[in-house]
Amino acid sequence: MKDSNSGSAHSQGAADSSTSSNFIRNKIAQDLKDNKYGGRVHTRFPPEPNGYLHIGHAKSICLNFTVAEENSGLCNLRFDDTNPAKESQEYVDAIKNNISWLGFAWNGEVRYSSSYFAHLYGFAGQLVKSGKAYVCDLSADQAREFRGSLTQPGKNSPNRDRSVEENLELFERMRAGEFVDGACSLRAKIDMASPNINMRDPVLYRIRHIEHHQTGSEWCIYPTYDYTHCISDAIEGITHSLCTLEFEDHRPLYDWILHNLDIESIKAASDLADFDGDYVLPEQTEFAKLKLNYTIVGKRQLKEMVDTNVVDGWDDPRMPTLAGMRRRGFTPASIRNFCESVGVARSDSVVDLGMLDHAIRDDLDKHSPRAMCVLRPLLVVLTNLAEDHLENLDMANHPKNEEMGRRSVPLSKQIVIDKSDFEEVASPGFKRLVASGEVRLRGAYVIKCDNVVKGEDGEILELHCSVDMDTLGKKPEGRKVKGVIHWVSRTKGIPLSVNLYDRLFTVENPESKDIEDFRDVLNADSLIRLDDCMAEPSIGNEGATDKYQFEREGYFCRDDKESATGRLVFNRTIPLRDSW
Ligand code: ATP
Ligand code: MG
Repeated sequence: MKDSNSGSAHSQGAADSSTSSNFIRNKIAQDLKDNKYGGRVHTRFPPEPNGYLHIGHAKSICLNFTVAEENSGLCNLRFDDTNPAKESQEYVDAIKNNISWLGFAWNGEVRYSSSYFAHLYGFAGQLVKSGKAYVCDLSADQAREFRGSLTQPGKNSPNRDRSVEENLELFERMRAGEFVDGACSLRAKIDMASPNINMRDPVLYRIRHIEHHQTGSEWCIYPTYDYTHCISDAIEGITHSLCTLEFEDHRPLYDWILHNLDIESIKAASDLADFDGDYVLPEQTEFAKLKLNYTIVGKRQLKEMVDTNVVDGWDDPRMPTLAGMRRRGFTPASIRNFCESVGVARSDSVVDLGMLDHAIRDDLDKHSPRAMCVLRPLLVVLTNLAEDHLENLDMANHPKNEEMGRRSVPLSKQIVIDKSDFEEVASPGFKRLVASGEVRLRGAYVIKCDNVVKGEDGEILELHCSVDMDTLGKKPEGRKVKGVIHWVSRTKGIPLSVNLYDRLFTVENPESKDIEDFRDVLNADSLIRLDDCMAEPSIGNEGATDKYQFEREGYFCRDDKESATGRLVFNRTIPLRDSW
């Protein structure tokens, strides 16, 4: 038996949104009232390790872990690894890492469906012996033809009435590796005329001579997902098996398999072998998948985007993967709050990306220290300061939270401001610096632009400005200066590069049937790279955080992967306001 019960499901850094009721929470409350599972609530998150987790998976993770946690229950992490051709250890590791990062702790050890292969094989033998499963020689194509369609019943396989002895012998020979891939399969004997195609003698085992990332070459037959999932749930003593709506039509099969096995032998094979109460079979409940506009969630397409270099890997900050979102600067709390606010329903709906934006802005606004960073620098010479002028200005790290402390920001004769904060002649509504105009440097003095220095082709090279030394922390005498702009000392600032990200797709539904290829609707400006940026030196201090609000520009996060190559790189998580 697995090492279990490391305590009840728990999470770290709890998200701060309140929980709301939903039909799953209500069902669990009712089951507890009815004492259905002897008061137990035990869920699981069952990813297939065939890709990285995405924001849709986060919804399922949050749901499974929080409903367990709320009821002093347990939540397992189980890799549903029955299709070795598409799975790998890289994905296993990334998935574990993502779940821990989100702040959830699974019950005991990580589980693998593959560690139940021997049990699954034994249970299949039970079905064969009770005349409920048979070895079928139809090829994949023939089996498809025999299966019928939504409007036509299927036809019985010519092998359906094989004797139990013959089936047992053939199944053993399948296991022993005597047949080539596809030569035969083990199928449940249910009903070829069922209106539910999943019940038309579904395949339980296929022959595949292929290595498995966990079991190596031990097996050459692999159980199907449907056969494996319900039994794995039962073995782990799961009570509430929560999955997405596409499995609704598989629920009769889930129940059929479990109800056609000997319940005492399931209990004996399970984590509950020593449990005193009645063993009650798990029950599947479906909820709607998370869909987000302007986003593709679906491992198959995401993998294609990675494989065809549409993005720079699974952790590209534009990807809706947890690895990408983490690099982009999303916090675990923001994702958990988002999942909670989206809710859990039984019908499909598309969530507006604005809700995710709101969740991350809300969290970062509260928790990010402020700093100044100039993205597109324009040199400003402060003419009335001495060459070696160096003044340390004291600024609050957060406008609403004194506890976040203060920092010192150096002012020198040469500073940079953002190119977009200067217009020689003001356009309508422009309130920042113009020729002969005044503006306040944030946290510092009011300056006046006396001279615009241009290059031969008329481009602006630098500005010469004079400082009104009587304006530190006070209003200028006798006039109003409206604009406030950010700035950085050119001598003391830290050079860095910045990635500005935007949504990957230009259309609300990139998966729409009208779109032949998602590559046709890619946003050409989803990544803008700026290499001449300059930030105040505090961001390079030892022990400095990796997330800031760069004033007036948005929320940014240090990209540790890129920064490891030498140059400091920050990713913009999100601008301060929605530009769409
Ligand atoms: P994809 O559709 O991206 O290929 P999947 O369902 O094949 O995902 P699994 O690894 O099988 O991926 O998923 C693990 C769990 O996450 C399952 O219980 C699945 O129902 C759930 N899940 C997957 N996608 C979503 C989603 N968009 N919203 C909510 N839950 C999801
Ligand atoms: Mg799946």
